Amino acid sequence: MQLLEDRIRKDGIVKEGNVLKVDSFLNHQMDITLFQEMGKEWKRLYAEEKINKILTIEASGIGIAAVAAQYFDVPVVFAKKSQSINLDGSVYSAKIPSFTHQKVYDVIVSKKYLSPQDRVLIIDDFLANGCAIRGLVQILQEAGAQLCGVGIAIEKGFQDGGRELRSQGIRVESLAIIESMDAASGEIVFRH
Ligand code: 5GP
Repeated sequence: MQLLEDRIRKDGIVKEGNVLKVDSFLNHQMDITLFQEMGKEWKRLYAEEKINKILTIEASGIGIAAVAAQYFDVPVVFAKKSQSINLDGSVYSAKIPSFTHQKVYDVIVSKKYLSPQDRVLIIDDFLANGCAIRGLVQILQEAGAQLCGVGIAIEKGFQDGGRELRSQGIRVESLAIIESMDAASGEIVFRH
């Protein structure tokens, strides 16, 4: 998506350790006009899928998922990062190692909000090694819900998440895919 690529080129900052900072428009301050264009694009891509729910993960996924949901006219459920796993059987859960924080989160979704009737689009801000999305996929499997696809804002194509998910037959639509990026020069190359 040209608009997003242009914005990453203009305002993205490449850090050491394969981290792209996009705090000025996506991860801290949020450009809602840009989010609307992203939402319209995912709607166009998944128009045939009869999606009835969007699943994301707190915190950074919530803003983009909420704006995208307006174009699908469906509710958003976000997986919560939890300190303690609830043992009373009322939640689905998965363990997710965090790329940016180097620790493992338990994430939970109440059983009230996912069921086998649901046709779900997963949305998140970044796809790196794929741990976050794999955790959400596991939760959908536990719930017996149908995964229709994944919508990602920025995929780091030089990390393995996208390839692994697609090799499992999961549809992944990333609006910008970074082929390579260099912290020293700040150069970012996109895959098309
Ligand atoms: P994964 O689970 O695919 O390894 O990483 C995905 C999660 O880590 C995303 O939800 C995002 O919050 C975070 N993340 C991974 N790489 C980056 C990055 O380069 N920049 C930022 N801002 N977040 C990232």
